[in-house]
Amino acid sequence: MPQKVISIRPQSRMPGTKAPRYDGSQLADTRGRPMRDLRISVTDRCNFRCTYCMPREVFDADYKFLPHEAILSFEEIARLAGIFIGLGVKKIRLTGGEPLLRKGLPDLVAMLAPLGADLTLTTNGSTLVKHAQALKDAGLDRLTVSLDSLDEATFRAMNDADFPVEKVLDGIAAAADSGFSPVKINMVVKRGVNDQQIVEAARHWRDSGHILRFIEFMDVGSTNGWRMDDVIPSAEVVRRISEAFPLEPVEANYAGEVAGRWRYKDGAGEIGVISSVTQAFCADCNRMRLSTEGSLYTCLFAQQGHDLKSLLRGGADDDAIRDSIAAVWRLRDDRYSELRTAETAKKPKVEMSYIGG
Ligand code: SAM
Ligand code: SF4
Ligand code: SF4
Repeated sequence: MPQKVISIRPQSRMPGTKAPRYDGSQLADTRGRPMRDLRISVTDRCNFRCTYCMPREVFDADYKFLPHEAILSFEEIARLAGIFIGLGVKKIRLTGGEPLLRKGLPDLVAMLAPLGADLTLTTNGSTLVKHAQALKDAGLDRLTVSLDSLDEATFRAMNDADFPVEKVLDGIAAAADSGFSPVKINMVVKRGVNDQQIVEAARHWRDSGHILRFIEFMDVGSTNGWRMDDVIPSAEVVRRISEAFPLEPVEANYAGEVAGRWRYKDGAGEIGVISSVTQAFCADCNRMRLSTEGSLYTCLFAQQGHDLKSLLRGGADDDAIRDSIAAVWRLRDDRYSELRTAETAKKPKVEMSYIGG
């Protein structure tokens, strides 16, 4: 059972002195990695209590979520997104918490879509039947839906909100009907919890036109009771599926792609495996995260963010904000997963629901 701990929302910092002027050149961090991918958490709230993400013992009735005035407005998010795109960001993912709980989210999509980045959203699918068409009409390019099990009892236990499988499947169908195809389906695999359903899930999504992605259970945050023993390595996932439905590897779409790609030899489509624990991909990591309250994190496992909200609300112009973000990226040195040990896994880290998954 995870320990009850106070979730950390660390004091943010920006480079102390005035950042040097950004000269428009290709940005690279200290390891030569470009800035490409921005994940924006639009809410720290969720209607699920997935045991590996927001365990109910911690995120209970007393948990203090952020008040409305603390979170970035749509206008603030869109302004920052434009600045990030000017610095080289090509892909923006809206996430959370559960992003579709943020009121009027399609309005934010409509503000971001014209900026030109590839625009995607990750959702638990619980309200997708209601929102899929509006998201498509607003200009969302792609959708990822999380669904950890097709077995009713297992899924309800994992989301710990007694939420039925059927409603998520209806949401995925609604997304496909609205023109999102393929939908990516995320399945976090935890040993002894849902690993018996790996092959069943593969069987279900084969030939559907959608892409199932298996995610190794990670030590994000400080509340999910992570243990290496609970991780099923992606290699084992591939082996188990291959025994039933032979697979072969596929070339990555681009450098820094998170998911390893495999296709069914019989032509029934492909799967992805996200091996953040057993095959760290820090060397190519070009992602950063903007938290719900406007702090920039250069790693999923960071212990501290960089406060952009104070710049926004303190009247800084776009050039000053751009210079500060560029300075943060140039100093970036993160490679947590490459260095992970049982000890680092115990260190305090920000929660994924706050920083954005
Ligand atoms: N609520 C949305 C959802 O569940 O799709 C978006 C936010 S959620 C934090 C983003 C993704 O992170 C989900 O696919 C979820 O399964 C994954 N995730 C959360 N905690 C995780 C963990 N400890 N290890 C691996 N993946 C995790
Ligand atoms: Fe909510 Fe997504 Fe976290 Fe589950 S994984 S608790 S749906 S934010
Ligand atoms: Fe990127 Fe940090 Fe994950 Fe490494 S641990 S891949 S640097 S987010």
